[in-house]
Amino acid sequence: MTYSTQTIVKLPEDEMRIKFAPDETIVFASSSGHCNLDCSYCIVNPIVKHNPSLTYEDLRFVHESIGKKVFFIFSGKGDFFAGYRKSDRLLAKLLEHDDVGVALDINGILIHCFDTLTPTQLAKIRHINLTYHYRQLVDHKAREVWKRNALTLLRKADGEDFFVNIVLSPPERHLWEEAMEWYETNIYSEYQKKIILINDVNYALGAEDEQIIARLQDRFGDMIRSVRRGNFESVLKEFDHVSCPAGQSYFRVWNDGKIESCPSVEELKNAGNAKDRTFYPRTEPFMCTDVRHCDCYHIASAGKMVFHRKVEAPAPALALETAMLAPAPKRKGVIAWLTRA
Ligand code: SF4
Ligand code: SF4
Repeated sequence: MTYSTQTIVKLPEDEMRIKFAPDETIVFASSSGHCNLDCSYCIVNPIVKHNPSLTYEDLRFVHESIGKKVFFIFSGKGDFFAGYRKSDRLLAKLLEHDDVGVALDINGILIHCFDTLTPTQLAKIRHINLTYHYRQLVDHKAREVWKRNALTLLRKADGEDFFVNIVLSPPERHLWEEAMEWYETNIYSEYQKKIILINDVNYALGAEDEQIIARLQDRFGDMIRSVRRGNFESVLKEFDHVSCPAGQSYFRVWNDGKIESCPSVEELKNAGNAKDRTFYPRTEPFMCTDVRHCDCYHIASAGKMVFHRKVEAPAPALALETAMLAPAPKRKGVIAWLTRA
């Protein structure tokens, strides 16, 4: 197969895209070994409970081993705060470092030291996804706790890169309207933060679901920031060959310490272990043909990937924009955007 040497690609506009600095290394950190909720649509099965979490020292080892600016995306198997005690002050300690940036993907049940962060520390949190798992809040009698925490988070850190999301999972469609009512009464009336409706990518939306979504838009239109459909695979499907910085300026680190250059490619899975204090970065970019995962999307959007395509294939930009709007086929293991917690 013949490939073009390089193709410049403009990804579709995306309000939820993380804004990376060009000189920082992206580290997806699934640091927590615990989640305090049990969402039916969680992609982690079984949901992680009471497993080890990465300590501050483990994360510092990763940071110091990389030796440059690091942007930690705390998203993955558990809830970021649920893996720690308030007294750990993990987030506050990390944010003391000048060359650290952070994205948080959280469920809002715990926020630990967040309300004590200084403006300087808060400025280093450049992206927040707060997910509103309504069914779980009801089941765990946690609506009042979530309300208090959500309002604290918003009052301290709201901005254009702070997103409140609800996952529309068809098996819970009977609760969608109730969830929106509760949000309107308890959050939106006090703090006018709009909410993003995200489809559960493991279920295709049926006619009944679409009717309910249309009703939600009629009734709560002022409160809805956007309705998102699609997944990473649909955005990236035109690309069959990329030069990826996995193992150079992109890593994944897991709660048990394992460091991977990329979790989706077998030969890139051993890049060390933060708990064993081992680190094996790569010296060359990786030529990859499996560009369809959540991490690929973020790395591409950071401008860190060089896309190649078959010489005879059509130019992809228009196809990408179309794909972004189309409902994605059902596929396990691909979740919409960053929303895992
Ligand atoms: S799967 Fe994606 S992130 Fe992993 S090496 Fe391939 S292109 Fe890079
Ligand atoms: S979706 Fe998020 S909050 Fe819900 S169980 Fe999974 S990790 Fe926990």
